Amino acid sequence: MSSTNRNIELATEIAAYVKRKGGTPTAAARELDIKYTPSIRNSLKELEPDIDRYRYAFQRIGEWMTLPTDFIGDRNKQRITCMCCNCGAIKEVSLLNLISKRSLSCKTCALKNRSNITVIADDGELFNSIRSFVRSLGKDTSYQSIRHILQSDGSITINSKTYALQS
Ligand SMILES: [Zn+2]
Repeated sequence: MSSTNRNIELATEIAAYVKRKGGTPTAAARELDIKYTPSIRNSLKELEPDIDRYRYAFQRIGEWMTLPTDFIGDRNKQRITCMCCNCGAIKEVSLLNLISKRSLSCKTCALKNRSNITVIADDGELFNSIRSFVRSLGKDTSYQSIRHILQSDGSITINSKTYALQS
């Protein structure tokens, strides 16, 4: 087999990998144990001029599944087409909000989740919001810190009673 044909074959293999799993050709070549030479790079560019559309594709971030999107080459302005796996909505989400996990689902599902929050105590006592839970403790001034602990740890123990976040 000529080296040109071999390069095309390897470029095809790399392209198929990227189109299945997302990411960059460089990362795909590494995964596939292929030395990503300039000639393979050129073959790939000819075969799949739009391969950069897959750079951020097929990653699950919260409820979002990222989809192929035009690559603009500016992280700060890049938006990604995403599908909310909870409801199927397709939206454009800023890359930075995805990376920082500020956005984990479409706004509709995010609001729904927020209103469904309950706090449950180990003896079964139930609160329909973090606010009402904190109020029942008479610790209104500690609302922010209690909420923070609940959201990062999932539970908090106060006076030897454990309260867990349930959604
Ligand atoms: Zn949704």
